[in-house]
Amino acid sequence: MTNGTPPDLLNEWDRNHQLHPWAAMDAWQESDYHPIESAEGIYLWDAEGKRYIDGPGGMWCVQIGYGRKDMAAAIAEQVMRLPYTSPWTTTTDPSTILAKKIADLAPGDLNNVFFTTGGSTAVDTALRTMHFMNNALGRPDKKIVIAREKGYHGSTYLASTVTGKERDKSRFDIEKRLVRFLPDVNPYNRPDGMSVEDWCDAKVADLENMIEEVGAENVGAFIAEPILCSGGVIVPPEGYHKRTHELCRKHDILYISDEVVTAFGRLGHWFASEDVFGITPDIITCAKGLTSGYLPLGACIISDRVMERMTGPDENVLFSNGYTYSAHPVCCVAALKNIEIMEEERILEHTREITPHFQSRLRALAKFPIVGDLRGMGLLGCIEGRPDTPGTSLAAERKLGALLDEACEKRGLLVRPLINMAVFSPPLVITRAQVDEMFDLLEEALEEVTAEMASD
Ligand code: PLP
Repeated sequence: MTNGTPPDLLNEWDRNHQLHPWAAMDAWQESDYHPIESAEGIYLWDAEGKRYIDGPGGMWCVQIGYGRKDMAAAIAEQVMRLPYTSPWTTTTDPSTILAKKIADLAPGDLNNVFFTTGGSTAVDTALRTMHFMNNALGRPDKKIVIAREKGYHGSTYLASTVTGKERDKSRFDIEKRLVRFLPDVNPYNRPDGMSVEDWCDAKVADLENMIEEVGAENVGAFIAEPILCSGGVIVPPEGYHKRTHELCRKHDILYISDEVVTAFGRLGHWFASEDVFGITPDIITCAKGLTSGYLPLGACIISDRVMERMTGPDENVLFSNGYTYSAHPVCCVAALKNIEIMEEERILEHTREITPHFQSRLRALAKFPIVGDLRGMGLLGCIEGRPDTPGTSLAAERKLGALLDEACEKRGLLVRPLINMAVFSPPLVITRAQVDEMFDLLEEALEEVTAEMASD
């Protein structure tokens, strides 16, 4: 494919012509992105043949691991049979069968599947669905979305509007009148001496107070990730989701569970909302693990209850939302094959079995003084570094994350640095021995960073 183009030239073309996601604009043509050439199982190989464990599993998505020939064969077959047909006027077996399969796997009455191109467009669709429903119900003011600080919901205008990560917005506009944010839910950041139970009460009260302040008649939806992943794998306190869900029900506010990361196995279940957190949302958004990253696909899954409230006597109203690549047959085949592989190889069961070992190796990193917090659930983990001086600058916090990233990479482990944190979500097929390999490397890397921070 690269026709023997020398690596230096490729690097130059990449710098000069490719604008990458979240590029640092002060030096966008100076950044070197790591060229990756191939992959197998949980490993990646770079252009120089060096092997890495893929700690973040791509971007939290490569559930079944890399290099699956059966996946490649299924995709190739569909490409030859029918690579594309318009979702406006036609349908295909793969999209129909996948919609039925997702409806079967999703909780409660979440039976209606709208296919999107990824997570952002699934969130966009969920929010537009809320607008549509409230317009249909004659409540045009009930549109404000309550979202949360540190929540990440994507990069379209609407999805970025409800994203609560301030620094991601810098110079982009958002639709401020549409959204209100609740403060941090991370139990690690609770005041000294406060119990987790009291913290949970406070966080539920944040929502209650916000609904009161804005007026329930103006609040259309609450959007929440079961675990705030890009925000640093923040696991809300026990009972939080149930209680916030109840509040939404009480005030007729749609509960949108953004399961773009947590669905399709990350916590050992197809969906986490009901199986792990005991709630049946009105809408679930998913993407990533749906195809294990082999091809792009997302879905917005809407409950029967919401659908019923969107349909009325007005014959002329269209659900005018959709993408050229909605329900793309090749992507739907990839999702079906991915689900089949997960079922046949009992990958959810494997994830549940391996989780205690993964989480206990994670917690064992507490012995390093530069580690402030260790948290996670399922095959999701985060190390939050603790700079030794309180009130340390952002630059110092970033340095900790960057040093850890470098020390891991040197040893053949990729992690995802987020300021002073490193997050990981390896392919779900990771074995016990590979979990050990990963954490052994992390321990060595932490030892090196501890020494470097001490010598500063
Ligand atoms: N929602 C959540 C919870 C995510 O983590 C992400 C991406 O990381 C998105 C939405 C956006 O998905 P995409 O990047 O596929 O548009």
